[in-house]
Amino acid sequence: MEPIAVNPKAGKLKVAPEWADVCFTCGTCAGGCPVTGVDRMDPRKAIRMAALGLDQDLIDSRFPWICTMCGRCEYACPQGVEILKVMRRARGLRDRDKVPGPIHKGVVMCLEKGNNLGIPKDDFLFLLADLAREMDEEEGFPGFYVPVDKKGANLFVTINSKEPFGEPDDMKFWWKIFYAARESWTVASENWEGVNWGLFSGDDEAMKTIVGRIVDHMERLECSTLLLPE
Ligand code: SF4
Ligand code: SF4
Repeated sequence: MEPIAVNPKAGKLKVAPEWADVCFTCGTCAGGCPVTGVDRMDPRKAIRMAALGLDQDLIDSRFPWICTMCGRCEYACPQGVEILKVMRRARGLRDRDKVPGPIHKGVVMCLEKGNNLGIPKDDFLFLLADLAREMDEEEGFPGFYVPVDKKGANLFVTINSKEPFGEPDDMKFWWKIFYAARESWTVASENWEGVNWGLFSGDDEAMKTIVGRIVDHMERLECSTLLLPE
C-alpha cells in the first residue's frame, strides 16, 4: 500500500510534513494555553489539523481567533513546534470579509485615514489643544502644551485611537509624567496610530505599512526613542 502523503509542503499553512511525527501529542501546549477549552479551543488539535493537511478547516475554524498570541504554548512545547506561527498564518489566510470583529475594518480605516477609528486630523489637533489647555489650568502644570511634529524631540509618542475617541483624559497620565520628567517628546499630526491591527488580523502588508509610517516619523522628526501604548 502506498504511504499516505501527510500535508504536502505546498499546503497553505506551510507546515512541514515531519511535524506530524515531531508533535507527539503530549498536550503540554494545551495545558499551558490560557484559552484551552474556550469554544473547544485546543492548540494540540490545531497543530494536528495543520500537520495532517486540514489547512482550510483550520483557517475556517475559530481556533486562530480565540488564540491570544501569547506564545506560552510554543515556549513550553518540548518539540519546538512553531504553534504561534501557524495560528497567525491561519489568520492571514482567512478571507478579509470573514475576519471576525472590527479589526479588519480598523486596518482599512488606518490605511485610509491614519488611525483605526478614522479620527480626522482637525478634530485630533483640536482635542490635543483643548486637553493641554485644561492641564495648563490645573495646579502643577503651568505652561503645558502638546508638542506636535516637534523636530529633534527625544521621544516619539504613538497613540491608541481609543483614547482620543473615548477616553481622552487617559492621555494626560502620560503627559503628566513627561512634564514632571522634563522629557522632550512629540506626537505626529497624522498617521499617529500606535495599535497595529495588521499584526492581529494577520495582514502582513498592512502591518508593514503601519510600522513604516512610524519609522518615517522617527526619521523625519529625528527622534531617538519610540513609545508604543500597547
Ligand atoms: S506541546 Fe508540542 S509536541 Fe506537545 S502536543 Fe503541543 S505541539 Fe505537540
Ligand atoms: S499562543 Fe495561542 S494557542 Fe498558544 S498558548 Fe497562547 S493563546 Fe494558547
